[in-house]
Amino acid sequence: MVEAVKLSRHNLFNTHIIPVNFKYFAPKTLNEALELLDKYGKEAKILAGGTDLLVKMKMRLVEPKYIINIKGIRELNFIKDEGNQVRIGALTRWRQLEKSELIKNFFPSLYDAVKVMGGTQIRNMATVGGNLCNASPAADSAPPLMVLNAKLVLASKKGEREIPITQFFKGPGKTVMEPDELLKEITIPKPEEGSGSAFIKVARTSMDLAKISAATALKVEDRKIVMVRIAIGSAAPTPVRTPKTEEALIGQPFRPSIIREKVKLVVNEISPIDDVRSTAFYRKEVSKIIVEDALLISYERASRR
Ligand SMILES: Cc1cc2nc3c(=O)[nH]c(=O)nc-3n(C[C@H](O)[C@H](O)[C@H](O)COP(=O)(O)OP(=O)(O)OC[C@H]3O[C@@H](n4cnc5c(N)ncnc54)[C@H](O)[C@@H]3O)c2cc1C
Repeated sequence: MVEAVKLSRHNLFNTHIIPVNFKYFAPKTLNEALELLDKYGKEAKILAGGTDLLVKMKMRLVEPKYIINIKGIRELNFIKDEGNQVRIGALTRWRQLEKSELIKNFFPSLYDAVKVMGGTQIRNMATVGGNLCNASPAADSAPPLMVLNAKLVLASKKGEREIPITQFFKGPGKTVMEPDELLKEITIPKPEEGSGSAFIKVARTSMDLAKISAATALKVEDRKIVMVRIAIGSAAPTPVRTPKTEEALIGQPFRPSIIREKVKLVVNEISPIDDVRSTAFYRKEVSKIIVEDALLISYERASRR
């Protein structure tokens, strides 16, 4: 009996073993993948980089009957400049974002996130689509994409729909995606002239998920704030925008003392918990500081554009 318990604990934590039987598909086109999802969606899992999914399968947190490996679908891997917007295929790896001048020049908050996401090995395998679909409240791509007003294109055999990223997350590990849908691409409008954005993450170590993170986008005209967006990660069941704090900042003069006062409101718009990474108290206290810092960096970047 003691041996049996030992064995099951071993299996749970030995990350070399995938203790699940599944049927494996490796479609080469989006259409093939959508056909498979249409047939097996409820019992299937999409595999992109596998850096979240395989960990969960090894720990038996998910036990899919079917695995649909989309890595070979080239039409889902791209970064395209389309004039007023940039489109990013869901299969684009973090490393590709890191090497992209487009991302660096137009979306500094997303670029900040890329620089602090995992390590090089993870960035080489992990996709931005996987980061969003995994729906962790700590997903590093979510706060920057939220303040950049990104939209997500979801595809199924029935067709496509586009939704703002702010409507995508439903809870930890949960999204609005139907079982027969996959995330096809992310579209980000190029930021307005004179605006800037930034992302700050606080983690236990450089390879860890965020204890708390914040992204901001800001535009100041005639010394007054005319546009501000704030998103916070690891502080609620999903990454969140803080509309009341944004409202309180609009029309205010951009002065560090005013910013410091107004950002105190963010704590009313988050609901952090105590967990292995941090405490609710710490998360609330630090959220104010990183939002303030991110706003100051956004301002500084805006004045350079
Ligand atoms: C050592 C380590 C360090 C990490 N550090 C960080 C970090 O600093 N910050 C961070 O945010 N994350 C981190 N992660 C988590 C993970 O690497 C990221 O979330 C990554 O972007 C997931 O992408 P993936 O392609 O590997 O997803 P996968 O594991 O392949 O998939 C994740 C989930 O999304 C689904 N999925 C994937 N693509 C699609 C799609 N196109 N349409 C529909 N569903 C899809 C899968 O079915 C699965 O449920 C880390 C993980 C590890 C192992």
